[in-house]
Amino acid sequence: MATYQKPKGTLDFYGLEAMKIHYVQNEIRNVIENFGYNEIITPIFENTEVFLRLGDESDVVNKEMYTFNDKGNRSITLRPEGTAAVCRSYLENKIYANPGITKFFYNGPMFRYERPGTGRYRQFTQFGVEVFGLSEPLLDCDVIYTAYSIFKRLGISNIKLVINSIGDFKSRSNYAKALQEYFSDKIDTMCPDCKRRLETNPMRILDCKVDKEHPALVNAPKIKDYLSDESKEYFSKVLNGLDALGVPYACDDNLVRGLDYYTDTVFEFIIDSNDALNGLAICAGGKYSELVKSMSGPDVPGIGYAFGIERIIGVMDSLGLFASLGKEFDATILALDYESKVQSLVIANQLRLAGLKVDLDYKNMSMKQQFKLCDRNNSRFILILGEDERLNNMITVKDKINNTQEKIKLEELENYIKGNK
Ligand code: AMP
Repeated sequence: MATYQKPKGTLDFYGLEAMKIHYVQNEIRNVIENFGYNEIITPIFENTEVFLRLGDESDVVNKEMYTFNDKGNRSITLRPEGTAAVCRSYLENKIYANPGITKFFYNGPMFRYERPGTGRYRQFTQFGVEVFGLSEPLLDCDVIYTAYSIFKRLGISNIKLVINSIGDFKSRSNYAKALQEYFSDKIDTMCPDCKRRLETNPMRILDCKVDKEHPALVNAPKIKDYLSDESKEYFSKVLNGLDALGVPYACDDNLVRGLDYYTDTVFEFIIDSNDALNGLAICAGGKYSELVKSMSGPDVPGIGYAFGIERIIGVMDSLGLFASLGKEFDATILALDYESKVQSLVIANQLRLAGLKVDLDYKNMSMKQQFKLCDRNNSRFILILGEDERLNNMITVKDKINNTQEKIKLEELENYIKGNK
């Protein structure tokens, strides 16, 4: 008989794991809406050319896309990231015609044909923001602060903001020339991708995962020595703003986004811990000045970031931040005879409608088994219903924390539980 398995690099979420996803997403939503961000929901697949705008020098576009022809022979791609799709929608719906800045957030599955590993999947969930319409250092700070606030709200304290400026186009083209010169007599010792990048996009060499410890790469010229005066001033204002907000950061000269449309501020949040998670990137972002224009849109700057919900959950697990999630029932009802069981079904559902989390035994379990159910449910109150209680419209309430037991009138049960829990 065939056995069915989930595709490589995917996850099933059930019970507590699914609860964690919703908990994290709700907390994020509560934070981001206070910053005035509106949700944008775009299709999970797009016409392939939408993602090709990201440039074929990126691994995501080059190697990792789930691309196929649909039955109408259109090339379709399961979205590998959110920015390009949000830009497409921003343009298609002429959202740029609205006055002021546009602040969007999104949250949904992404697909990349990557080698699965710790915190790396082929289907994963990304939360991200994209802000269009303004290029200002203080806006960059405010965008970074949304991510910082979210991590704080979730209780993730062992994170580090790593930040750099990759300058404007003038700075970058001077830097690219310097890199080409510098690497020209070292490239033979580097990976085939780096060899190709030397011609096509030398800054991408600095992003290389294979050669990241290579001495040539570590000692390469730094972008900060090629920044124009405007870019230098922009970056120092960003750092000032972060200081004012009290966000700790480290500047990292080697943090670059080799993609053509990024300019000035680029950043990551990484885990700063003593365990295996140390150094894991949980969030990446930057300012992009050219992406909207490169998609045949107006000259509108943008800035955004994205982080993986599964990675956040992994970090929160390691910090024990879900300890109380989903474990506790407000009450579990024990019934001593069949008539009481029928009534316990009715009582349970009245309490649930009143917003309480309640369980009961549906079959005829022994008292011992029913008490075990209460333990498994970590039930705050145990409600006991037998013939005696039933005939008097009462129920016995055992309070697990205060260690009390008393008979309560059924009509007072809801208030009793709410008042004492
Ligand atoms: P990127 O879109 O590549 O800049 O990645 C932004 C964030 O998305 C990363 O910091 C991760 O948190 C998450 N992420 C990226 N790729 C994966 C993946 N294959 N599996 C899980 N999370 C991912």
